[in-house]
Formats: sequence, structure tokens, C-alpha cells
Amino acid sequence: TTQIRLAAYPVGMPQDSDFETVTVDLPALADGQVLLRTIYLSLDPYMRGRMSTAKSYAASLQLGDVIVGGTVCEVLESRSPYFAAGDIVLGYAGWQTHSVADAKHLRRLDPAQAPVSTAVGVLGMPGFTAYSGLLVLGKPKAGETVVVAAAAGPVGSAVGQIARAKGARAVGIAGGPEKCRILLETYGFDAAIDHRSPTFVDDLAAATPDGIDVYFENVGGAVTEAVLDRLNLYARMPVCGLVAGYNATEAPAGPDQLPGFFRKVLTLSLTVRGFIQSDFVPTHYKDFQRDMSGWIRGGQVHYLEDIVDGLERAPEAFRGLLTGRNVGKLLIRVGDD
Ligand code: NDP
Repeated sequence: TTQIRLAAYPVGMPQDSDFETVTVDLPALADGQVLLRTIYLSLDPYMRGRMSTAKSYAASLQLGDVIVGGTVCEVLESRSPYFAAGDIVLGYAGWQTHSVADAKHLRRLDPAQAPVSTAVGVLGMPGFTAYSGLLVLGKPKAGETVVVAAAAGPVGSAVGQIARAKGARAVGIAGGPEKCRILLETYGFDAAIDHRSPTFVDDLAAATPDGIDVYFENVGGAVTEAVLDRLNLYARMPVCGLVAGYNATEAPAGPDQLPGFFRKVLTLSLTVRGFIQSDFVPTHYKDFQRDMSGWIRGGQVHYLEDIVDGLERAPEAFRGLLTGRNVGKLLIRVGDD
């Protein structure tokens, strides 16, 4: 197998020298194990957190570890009664072309039901993140205004479309006019705002004439500052991600924003709650699978994929994810699909 491992903890944006590519032999299969060939590797912002020793909700990678990641794989050989050669499975093989896995960590995918790549996208972890964070914590009501940034990505695009399915008004924030066009034309947002535009703050105000009832927090930074000024009484803020700061090496310059933020939490009776999607899996995953496949079939939810060919391009593509170069769910096609 060819693997990409962590060679050094990145400082700021990950560099090529933070990764090393090695080719090694895999161990022989034990009972209950399968040999896998990776078809798709999902690249997700959380991987930046794993490449750091800062304390977080999941353990850091050690130097020399294969970078983690959700994968869609083909079973090449099986010593498990549950899988046969040729099966397509969802697993967590990470940044490598082949792997050995315990069958109990895999889920079989049915290519007739949906394109298998969606198992790491709209019908997988990012889609579920949007679904659980928005519905369990954001609780949008018909007629309310929901705002989400990184809105052209897999989480944000699902947040906007689920909000609309629930009768709310969806306002998406994305980087650049092309992504804003996609928000309106592909995903059906009610309004799209470019966070890179010099008129961003005014554009946000114009797009939220009735204020904001749910802010689904994906990014942090300047976007959040502008949003805070538009929040309504009793607004909900599910805190999902803070991707604007994932490469930060020091605290942002400028005055301390914390007292102003807490003043808003108090005076507007805000509900601010962080979450990790996996916490909701036991209680909400079945509902998600039923609702999301129904919305996709019914045309209420659309999705886009940004597929990059070749494992060797994963570091470069991952940098692009942190700066917004991807349009839609970023996947590496590691092997033929
Ligand atoms: P995306 O594909 O949307 O990629 C991240 C996007 O963030 C970029 O494309 C870019 O879009 C945007 N971005 C980067 N920097 C900034 C900035 N400074 N200001 C505004 N936007 C910025 O990723 P996902 O949909 O996979 O993930 C979205 C968020 O959800 C992330 O924060 C991620 O960490 C979080 N997440 C959290 C989970 C949880 O369990 N809590 C699970 C899964 C994801 P643009 O070009 O529009 O600026």
C-alpha cells in the first residue's frame, strides 16, 4: 500500500514537508478482517485539528501515523462472513491506497441506492452534521431566517436546503461570486452573500431584513462578528466549526471581543451550543438517512462533489479546502470507481 503519513506538525498552513509518502507491505489477513482498495478518500476540515497537538475532542495524530479519513473502498479479499470480494464499503482507512480492516468497522454500501461517494458526503458525515446541528440545536421554524457560512460546502449547502425544507428563509455566505451563484441556482438559497466583498457587512444586513434567528456557525472570524450584530432575541447558534481559524498561529489582533459577545448572549437570551456530530448518531442517524434520501429523491436537496484524481494530490487539495478552492464535497479519487 502507498500511504501518506504525518511527517511534522504543521505550523499554519500545512506544507508538503509536513507529509511523507511511503510504500509498505500490508499484514496478512486475520479472521474477521478484509483487504480493501480505496476508491474515494474524503477530505474534511477536522483533519487539520488531528495534525496538531492542541487538546481537542479527538486524539492528535502521532508523527508517522497515516493521516485519518473516511473512505469508500472495494473489498479485494475477505476473511469475514459478512463481506465478499467486490463489495463496496464505507470505512475509515485514511490517506492510503490499500488497507486491512476489521469487518466490524465497515458498512456495506449499495451502489443501486445512491452513488457510493455520497456515503462520505451528503448521505454521510457532513450531511448528518448539517441535519443534526440544524434540527436538534438550531430548531428553525417556518418563516425564520437561518444564516450559514461555508455555504457552498457539504455541511453549509445541506444546512441551507434543510432550512428551506422546514419553511425557513436560508441566507448563505460564501467566498466569491461563482460560489454565490451556485448557492442561488443549485442550492436554492433565498440570498447569497460574498464574505470577501468590501460591502459584506451591508450586504448581510440587506439580506436579513428581519434579523437572524439561527446562525449555524461554520467559520468564525470576521463573518461571525458581522452576524452577531444581526441576531434576534432568542436566536440559536449551533457551533459546528471555526474553519477560518484552523491555521491560526496566534490570537487575532484587535480589541477583546469576548465581553461584547457575552453581553449579546445575555441581552438577547442567545442559545450558543457546540456539538460534535457523532454525539447525535445513536439518536438521530436513522431519521437522517430516511429524511435526507427522501429530500434528495424529492429534489429538495442537491449536492455537488469536487473530485481530485490521485492520492498524491491530497496535501495540495487539503490546503485548498482550508482556503475555499473546493466547490462542493472534496474527494480524492484514489482508485478506479
Ligand atoms: P467546506 O468544504 O465547506 O470547506 C471549508 C470552507 O470554509 C471553504 O471552502 C471556505 O469556503 C470556507 N472558509 C475558509 N476560510 C474561511 C474564512 N476565513 N471565512 C469564511 N469562510 C471560510 O467544509 P465542510 O462543509 O466539510 O465543513 C464546514 C464546517 O463544518 C467546518 O468548520 C468543519 O470543521 C465543520 N464540521 C464540524 C463537524 C462537527 O461534528 N462539529 C463535522 C463536520 C464538519 P468559502 O470559499 O465559501 O470561503
